Amino acid sequence: MRRQQADIVIVGAGMIGLSLACLLAKAGRQVTVLERHSQPQLSDELALRVSALNNRSRQVLRDCGAWPLIDDYRIGPYTSMEVWDKDSPAHIEFSAAEINQDDLGAIAENNVVEHFLWQQALQLGVDIQQVDEWKLLNEGDADSLVEIKVGDDLVFASLLVGADGGRSLVRQWSELPVTFWDYEQQGIVANIKTEQPHGGVARQIFLPTGPLALLPTPDAHTVSIVWSADTALAEQLLHESAERFAKHVETESQRVLGGCKCVSDIKAFPLRMQYARQWQHGRIVLAGDAAHTIHPLAGQGANLGFADVRALAQHLDTRDLKSLVELNKALSKYSRERRADTQLMIAGMEAFKRGFGTANPLVKGMRAIAFAIPNKLTPLKRRLAQLAM
Ligand SMILES: Cc1cc2nc3c(=O)[nH]c(=O)nc-3n(C[C@H](O)[C@H](O)[C@H](O)COP(=O)(O)OP(=O)(O)OC[C@H]3O[C@@H](n4cnc5c(N)ncnc54)[C@H](O)[C@@H]3O)c2cc1C
Repeated sequence: MRRQQADIVIVGAGMIGLSLACLLAKAGRQVTVLERHSQPQLSDELALRVSALNNRSRQVLRDCGAWPLIDDYRIGPYTSMEVWDKDSPAHIEFSAAEINQDDLGAIAENNVVEHFLWQQALQLGVDIQQVDEWKLLNEGDADSLVEIKVGDDLVFASLLVGADGGRSLVRQWSELPVTFWDYEQQGIVANIKTEQPHGGVARQIFLPTGPLALLPTPDAHTVSIVWSADTALAEQLLHESAERFAKHVETESQRVLGGCKCVSDIKAFPLRMQYARQWQHGRIVLAGDAAHTIHPLAGQGANLGFADVRALAQHLDTRDLKSLVELNKALSKYSRERRADTQLMIAGMEAFKRGFGTANPLVKGMRAIAFAIPNKLTPLKRRLAQLAM
């Protein structure tokens, strides 16, 4: 049995685990990442899973050294946003030009981001191990380190980070409590060719059965859709042919981009709100989806995760990780700060979802007014554009 030593072990080489690994390695830490799969490969075809990345997330990726590679390879910047309600006059649009910016964000394929982060992490000396199974033998305390059995090896570390997604095993092993509820919706994703060019506009239509997002890709005539549909509708859509599915997108989007054709598989992800009520315990801490998953309607899940990465790397800084007192100071600051931000986002998503997920005529009237005000008031619109970034 080999004994390995690291300052920090991160479980999960998704966007969050890898970007954290890069920042910590840059700060001089010895980092080991445990991941089930191998490095995601690049493909000519546009991937199904994409994320709308805001400015702060792009800055984290820049600091990792990965953004120029992602940017050079393939991204879909969006210069304006348009949101409307199918059943009422509620409509709002704002653009980067209104706040003197080049864009409001960029659509990036998750596997492209992961591919280049993985490459950067290796270059920065991160040890990425592909593992089928691992087991937490000792959570560590003031006098002992975290001890993980990986295959035949024992890995010791001062800190274990769970960046292993919504079904985090790290969270389960360390019995950190979670609150969750099912949205009773599926997030359906597909790539759709459109008759009209998308023009770099990120669009979202609120339907009574859930929001439909049309996200601009690098191809002027292809959008990546995220249709958060109520379960019954989702089941029906998933059983349709690609042609019929595209026709539904075309009709529900009110032909905003003309005729639609599906050019990919159609996949669905169950949508669930989940947050860990406690993010940290001793030498263990959570980040990204392991700590929180939210509704994709505002495309903020990964953005919240990148904000976790920034905060955790900053609070760990140059602290002596072997000292549990020092470590706990950093981790409690991190979790306090990030939990507050996450809860605010969850509350905002809920308000949005409830406000739009209803056919109640009173609520519909109120939301038409609520949309009309910022659309007419330039300062408020500017503020919304800044928030979107
Ligand atoms: C339909 C949909 C659309 C979305 N759109 C957006 C958007 O536009 N913008 C946005 O910001 N967010 C969006 N999100 C959310 C975003 O995709 C997630 O927040 C983000 O991918 C989370 O990254 P992560 O690294 O925390 O977790 P994950 O991407 O889940 O990565 C976890 C990693 O851990 C590995 N792992 C898991 N368990 C183990 C284990 N036991 N051992 C070893 N490795 C393990 C997995 O293989 C994986 O590589 C969307 C989500 C959905 C469902």
